[in-house]
This record gives sequence, structure tokens and C-alpha cells, in this order.
Amino acid sequence: MDLTYPEIEERLKHDPLVILPIGSTEEHGHHLPLSSDSLQAIYVAEKIAEKSNGLILPPIYYGYTELDDFKGTISISFETLYNLVYDILKEITDDGVKKILIISGHASSLHMGAIRYAARKILDKKDVKIMVLSDYDIAYELRAKLVPENDSHAGIIETSRMLHIREDLVKKNWIFEKNPDKKYMVTRKYREIYTYGTLSDPNGASKELGEKIDEYVIEKLWSIVKDNFSL
Ligand SMILES: [Zn+2]
Repeated sequence: MDLTYPEIEERLKHDPLVILPIGSTEEHGHHLPLSSDSLQAIYVAEKIAEKSNGLILPPIYYGYTELDDFKGTISISFETLYNLVYDILKEITDDGVKKILIISGHASSLHMGAIRYAARKILDKKDVKIMVLSDYDIAYELRAKLVPENDSHAGIIETSRMLHIREDLVKKNWIFEKNPDKKYMVTRKYREIYTYGTLSDPNGASKELGEKIDEYVIEKLWSIVKDNFSL
């Protein structure tokens, strides 16, 4: 974003990895900011860009989320997200980008589906490599190891990572209440199920744990990226 077009032209000659960070503007309980998913995705994108000498695209701060009955949450539709990602991928692949990593800090299945579908549609037309994942695909491997098995949205992993990445934005007033089990229910009223917007108990979160989790995510992701893009 801060480069000029001749600088981009020069960088593209070396076939760089180009990274698109995607987040959300979504409630994360009483203690984490609406930008949590975006900040985590941008953090991971920056670390992978350093390691690969890659380029980072301007981040997408919106995603598709079902928690939009909480104030401040701004969800975009599946179609909007699909079209936005498709258009960005079309533009950069027209420019000659061949190696693309899309890293999403928000991981809900429909959101990831819209992104993956856009990537799939680009591959119908272009001979490029695209990887799509959430950093939470990797972070949640630590469930039942470093954190309880049911750790989730705004819980220990996410609170710890935010303490590591942007401690100044984390409030210490986290509130959690065990919610009734409404598994598999489709509803417009998530606030009735998740009273405080925290889907699992954040107690036990720490900056040290966040650092450990982030290191794990970045090391693992870097090894997958290296293998798949032959870097
Ligand atoms: Zn989140």
C-alpha cells in the first residue's frame, strides 16, 4: 500500500508471495476490541511477509459474521465477501501475481466458504497458487493441549493472543457465563445464547501464553507455506 507502482513492478519480477489478511468487525466480549480478528490476521501476515520477503495487500476489515445482534458488529453478506475477494484476486492475478496466501483471523464456516469459493473461481481461469486458511485452523490444534477442548471465540487462546499482539487494547474485565447448549441451532439472536459475547471462559489467558501460541501458529504456517509455494 505504501509502495509506488514502479516499486511494485520491480517486486513482481521476483515472483513474491502476496498475502491478503482478512478479519472482521465483530464483538469479542467485554474485553476485546471489534478489530480483534483483523489485528491477529495482520500480525500473522506481517510475520510471514518478513520470512518470505512477500507483499501484504491492504487488509479487509469486514467479514461475514452471525453475531450481528451485538452493537458494533458489522457483517457483510456472503455474496459481498465473495465478490470482494474475487475482484481483488482477479486484479492481482491480472498483474502477474502467482503465489497468494489468504489468511483470515475470522474463521466461521460461511465466511471461509465465501473466500474459498472466490479462490476456486479464480483457479477456473488462472494458473496460480492460492492458499486459504484461518490462523485459527492452526491455533485450535492447541485445544485439549495448552487450553481446554472447548476454547472458542474470545476465550483463552484469543484473549492471550490479543494480550501478546495489542495488550493496550485488552480490558481486564472479562465476563463469561456458561451458556445453554444450542448446538447446530440457526438463530438471529446470538445474544440470547451468548449473553456477554464470550463463547468460552477466558480465565487462564496470559501474554506469555499468547506469545507461545503465536510462535506456534507462525512456525507451523511458515512451514506449510514454504512447502506449498516452494519458497
Ligand atoms: Zn475472533
